[in-house]
Amino acid sequence: MKKPWRRDLQEAITDGAKAYAYLGKEPPKGVDFAAIGRQYSIRIPKYYLDLIDKRDPYDPIGLQCLPQGLEMGASELDIPDAVGDAKRSPVPGIVHKYPNRVILLVANTCSMYCRYCFRKPVPKGIALPGLREGLEQAFAYIQAQRGIEEVIFSGGDPLILGLETLLPLIERLQAMDHIRMIRIHSRVPVTLPQRIDDALVDALAAHKPITVVTHFNHPRELSPLALTAIDRFTQRGIPLLNQAVLLRGVNDKSETLARLFGDLYYLGVRPYYLHHCDRTPGTAPFRTSLQAGMDLMASLKNRLSGPALPRYVLDIPGGYGKYPISRHHFTPLDAHRWQITLPTGKTLIYQDISSDNQPDLPRLF
Ligand SMILES: *Cc1c(COP(=O)(O)O)cnc(C)c1O
Ligand code: SF4
Repeated sequence: MKKPWRRDLQEAITDGAKAYAYLGKEPPKGVDFAAIGRQYSIRIPKYYLDLIDKRDPYDPIGLQCLPQGLEMGASELDIPDAVGDAKRSPVPGIVHKYPNRVILLVANTCSMYCRYCFRKPVPKGIALPGLREGLEQAFAYIQAQRGIEEVIFSGGDPLILGLETLLPLIERLQAMDHIRMIRIHSRVPVTLPQRIDDALVDALAAHKPITVVTHFNHPRELSPLALTAIDRFTQRGIPLLNQAVLLRGVNDKSETLARLFGDLYYLGVRPYYLHHCDRTPGTAPFRTSLQAGMDLMASLKNRLSGPALPRYVLDIPGGYGKYPISRHHFTPLDAHRWQITLPTGKTLIYQDISSDNQPDLPRLF
């Protein structure tokens, strides 16, 4: 019999008009869902649609999942390979930016396609090739590079794979004596928490050490079902970290972030990163300024316990990796440009948002 989560994944909505019909709402006038669907993947589990507050035309859950006409617009700040992953991909399926750890792209689909995703163009095959068919080359690469200690599963979303696919990948890597940690980056605990069933968590617990990094962006995503998923991991002693993305209109208020990070911390999920929104095409409305992010982080300092405060980071365009955003390494040049000084001493210019290149957030309904 098909597992319940597989059925729920299959029943996820893959069309904007159907998502609005499911909610019983009229879509905004003039949105061409077919055109958006040709350019970017659309998928929303009904579980996630049910978290939307239909009275709020700017609902933070709805903004993250409902396709909008603005995605089709271009911004002068867009960068197709926004964080330089393609540039730092030595073989298909691998992104290697730091000596001791690599990203392994083990899946090429997600349980939900988040509208702000930095890999937004990837599911339509633009940037990173390979995945499944490329994995043999990826394994050979990891086997040969003895300095790699940690392999980070990403994609796509690793936890939409069945155990029959996931476990052999873990086992092959753990059989290499230089690999000391497997880390799984997944938004499934947020968008399809019913998939975090006992069979999955028991299997992962039997393959320790494994660290799971979740991706909660808003406190309302911490539903009873999501709490059950978190509990399953913590009960079995699997460490949980969270990475969030700073998103305009979704979580760019001090109260919202304080509640998100505080709730996560008290649930046993350590807030790890707050990512500045990358400059991926189709995500312009979600961007905040670096200054706004720095001010938010400063406002959280007294409100939250030390371990509840994540590191606020920018994945620097060009493939330089993630870098903590602070006035120590970021110097304002003028209203919208920053000079970044890397640890090597090299300096880069980063163009920030301004009112001319920042579209308004769409009204959802
Ligand atoms: C984010 C990232 C990692 C993981 O970095 P940590 O700082 O260890 O979380 C590894 N490789 C790449 C390419 C990344 O983008
Ligand atoms: S689950 Fe992650 S990779 Fe997939 S669309 Fe959302 S943010 Fe992007």
